[in-house]
Amino acid sequence: MENTMYVQCCVCKRVREDDVWVLPDSGQNLQTNASHGYCPECAEAAFEEIREMLNKECTSCTTPPAA
Ligand SMILES: [Zn+2]
Repeated sequence: MENTMYVQCCVCKRVREDDVWVLPDSGQNLQTNASHGYCPECAEAAFEEIREMLNKECTSCTTPPAA
């Protein structure tokens, strides 16, 4: 059995084959030895989300109690 290291995107479930991210065939069972991460697109989307969060101030922390 080949000990290939699979990386599976935890968002879109694609796996990296060489440098391409593809959806695994339904016949393939990659789950067992796949390590989870982000494909470049989902990583970008996740960073974007974090960036937006950081740009916003937490309203529940910064809103003074209503006078
Ligand atoms: Zn992805």
